Amino acid sequence: MAVAIYTHPDCLAHDTGPGHAERPQRLSVVTDALRAAFPTRLDWREAPLASHPALLRVHAPTLLETVLETQPSQRVMLDPDTVLSPGSAQAALRAAGAAIAAVDAVLDDAPARAFCAVRPPGHHATAETAMGFCLFNSVAVAAAHALSAGVLQRVAIADFDVHHGNGSQAIFERDPRVLFASSHQMPLYPGTGDTDEHGVGNIVNAPLPALADGRQFRDAWRTRLLPALDAFAPQLLLVSAGFDAHRRDPLAQLQLEADDYAWLTRELVALAGRHGRGRVVSLLEGGYDLQALRECAVAHVGALLDA
Ligand SMILES: [Zn+2]
Repeated sequence: MAVAIYTHPDCLAHDTGPGHAERPQRLSVVTDALRAAFPTRLDWREAPLASHPALLRVHAPTLLETVLETQPSQRVMLDPDTVLSPGSAQAALRAAGAAIAAVDAVLDDAPARAFCAVRPPGHHATAETAMGFCLFNSVAVAAAHALSAGVLQRVAIADFDVHHGNGSQAIFERDPRVLFASSHQMPLYPGTGDTDEHGVGNIVNAPLPALADGRQFRDAWRTRLLPALDAFAPQLLLVSAGFDAHRRDPLAQLQLEADDYAWLTRELVALAGRHGRGRVVSLLEGGYDLQALRECAVAHVGALLDA
């Protein structure tokens, strides 16, 4: 079974500046590693631009103005972590557009699974605010797009980035059509994601302490997050695939190995097979060690291919 990979060179033009962890090389090492590991089995596709109406399903007009109309001649800091450069608007539109196109493709079962190799990441962006390296919340835009046709009633987001996806949670915490399930290190940026954050019964958080390893990570998914996803029975599964819980990552202290990501990906594909015809759309979120990113992206996409 082929897996579609949505990406675009415009995503490299989001220029965060010297020394910034969320740098263009992150994306080039992911796409280079995938081409080398799977030379014939991936279906490479060009990410289109997201439309304004698609972004406005989850974002306030003021955020579109900030990201799309500032048109900086040099880098502008939106907060201490989050940069807007001359190429950022186009990159953010490609990232969200990749997610939308991938949803449309898998809902047509052509193919059943897709990975969006994009940047900037998205899961910290709220309805109104770009933050934590994120401009638009691409996974939230994808979920809202999937529900917009009225055909699907239940879409889930599985988020295994080491940081809590506060933006995704905030956008959907009052929308019972979306289940948000997240493992993350706590305490850590952005500070949300405790077990008592339930939304309308559609938010499930599994915080992990610093130095938690793959066994604790798998336990959290096996006992808490996967059962909640199974009970919800999503017709489409979206994945916020951050690889910054790897032991090499410089921004956090979890101790995962690439094989932990392969394990969880196989579990998620099996779950999608039980409820959603195997349909999975995964998006690159964080991951800041280049060697770990290579290994983890290959493990993740390999499991999407072979599961
Ligand atoms: Zn992260």
